[in-house]
Amino acid sequence: MNFFKKIAGYQDCREIKKYCEVCGSLVKNPYYAFIISLRGLIFTKNNNIQQVDELNKKVYLKDGGSLSYSFSLDENNDVLGITHRSNEHLLCSERCEDNYHNSIKKMVWSPEIYKKTDSLDIKEVCFYPLGLTGIKKDKDIKKCEICGDKYPSLGRSWSEFKIIDKNSVYGKYNERPDVDLNHYPFVLSGLSEKNKEGLLYAYKIDSNSIKRNFCSYDCAFFSSKQNNSLITVDSVLEKDRLGFIVPETEDFNFDLDNNIKHRPSFMHYL
Ligand SMILES: [Zn+2]
Ligand SMILES: [Zn+2]
Repeated sequence: MNFFKKIAGYQDCREIKKYCEVCGSLVKNPYYAFIISLRGLIFTKNNNIQQVDELNKKVYLKDGGSLSYSFSLDENNDVLGITHRSNEHLLCSERCEDNYHNSIKKMVWSPEIYKKTDSLDIKEVCFYPLGLTGIKKDKDIKKCEICGDKYPSLGRSWSEFKIIDKNSVYGKYNERPDVDLNHYPFVLSGLSEKNKEGLLYAYKIDSNSIKRNFCSYDCAFFSSKQNNSLITVDSVLEKDRLGFIVPETEDFNFDLDNNIKHRPSFMHYL
């Protein structure tokens, strides 16, 4: 049915160490943070708002249009949010989530903004991650295909692609690698500002992918090594970028001095 090796039972959970996606500490008691990015805001006190349909999460405008929303940012439904992407992230503790939120820019808007507009397109303004504390949103319970642990999911999406050809070349940070990018569209490495020269890895992948359920970067990395595959994952926490996990990911993070052992290489969506 597919190229992925059948796993004989789940891996012993104790075998796979999992690391916090924020600080890199070993995770002893899994704590999932739910983080979403916003595409837009709706200000329901604006004169153009006719009605808020809470059941169907729709706002009707006096000019005849309507807007769909995902959740309310306050008790009175004065400000409604439109979700861009929503993810679960494995962290070591609630305190680590607090540290993360304190380290990023907070979204602020004038309390009078509703007088000027009925809605705001966030994607055009800036990217703002937002914690889901206090916001009710349904979570699915999924089962990790590697360790068998159950985890709450807000829709983080993992796709696994078979690597059909791979090459490594010596190269420099921020310089075009000496590989045929038509043949190898993905080039990843552990090179950085500090570690300017070394090996780059170039990958050609199968065009078909399989959707997978993984609880952590660490289980995804396990699968990548086992199946010789490239795994993509979307990440709101990492500024809404797309991450790549390959069998060399642990080496890349070692070279990068990154204590999040299996942190993906992140790129902006094209
Ligand atoms: Zn942590
Ligand atoms: Zn797992």
